[in-house]
Amino acid sequence: MTSLDLRKITLRVGDAVERDEILELHDVSIGGQRFSFEPAQPVARLTLARATTGMVFTLTFTASLRGPCARCLADAALEVPVEATEYEAVDPSADVDELENPYLDDDVLDLSSWARDAVLLSLPEKILCAKACPGLCGSCGRRLDEGSCECGPPPADSRWSKLEELRAELAE
Ligand SMILES: [Zn+2]
Ligand SMILES: [Zn+2]
Repeated sequence: MTSLDLRKITLRVGDAVERDEILELHDVSIGGQRFSFEPAQPVARLTLARATTGMVFTLTFTASLRGPCARCLADAALEVPVEATEYEAVDPSADVDELENPYLDDDVLDLSSWARDAVLLSLPEKILCAKACPGLCGSCGRRLDEGSCECGPPPADSRWSKLEELRAELAE
């Protein structure tokens, strides 16, 4: 876990500091599939800015994820640009959850959890190997991006196939 002890950083109102932090990202589960980060330890830019009322935290990095395509299960890779902001009020008596940085505990900032959650919030709706991934054939399971299979078009509605049979019999 990458964390940062804020007690080592002193900022006066109006001051800001930028740091490069190496994150430690573990595999995540997305839609029941396992995805891994490559690299698992990307460098992120962390900005701490001291305002009158509190501290503003900004985390910026690009996450590279690899895992199975949602349609065909082939290897899919994607880059997720992440920019996350958190705020922590200075006055601890201001008991408002929104003004509390959930990744801050006893002045220690849990960068790994924050980064992981920020990635999950920045994901596209579906992770695909290619934008136009045709997926798998419903009958034989072949990956249709490798060409069509011999199954042909999906079977016709059975109500009509009965009529087709009848028509074939009449034609004999
Ligand atoms: Zn695919
Ligand atoms: Zn098929």
